[in-house]
Amino acid sequence: MSDCLFCKIIAGQIPGRFVFEDHELVAIRDINPQAPLHVLIIPRRHIATLNDLTPHDDALVGSMQRAAAAIAKEHGYADSGYRTVFNVNREAGQTVFHIHLHLLAGRGLGWPPG
Ligand code: 5GP
Ligand code: ZN
Repeated sequence: MSDCLFCKIIAGQIPGRFVFEDHELVAIRDINPQAPLHVLIIPRRHIATLNDLTPHDDALVGSMQRAAAAIAKEHGYADSGYRTVFNVNREAGQTVFHIHLHLLAGRGLGWPPG
């Protein structure tokens, strides 16, 4: 998608350091962090929202969650705790329409979320 921010970051058209990458995913620090560790795990392939997933994507979403767990562990939060979140559409506050899993850690995270 030519006008997608995350496609541009993945293509290297916008500078950004990947904290993790493999053949199907990249992970970047959020530009406006909501916790001491706030990372976005993003598939290289453009998928607009969770509503657009197909059974073909099941393994991809599993890989996203496992990447989040690995990054949390790498930063020392596996035992203390962390949260992963997908925002979907307006009422959940989705602003970038290329799916991304938020990984938040490093502070007490309230429940229910706002
Ligand atoms: P959403 O609100 O769609 O769930 O999350 C989008 C996230 O992308 C937000 O937390 C926002 O701070 C982050 N973001 C927006 N633009 C950029 C950018 O250019 N670089 C990075 N690293 N994060 C961004
Ligand atoms: Zn995209």
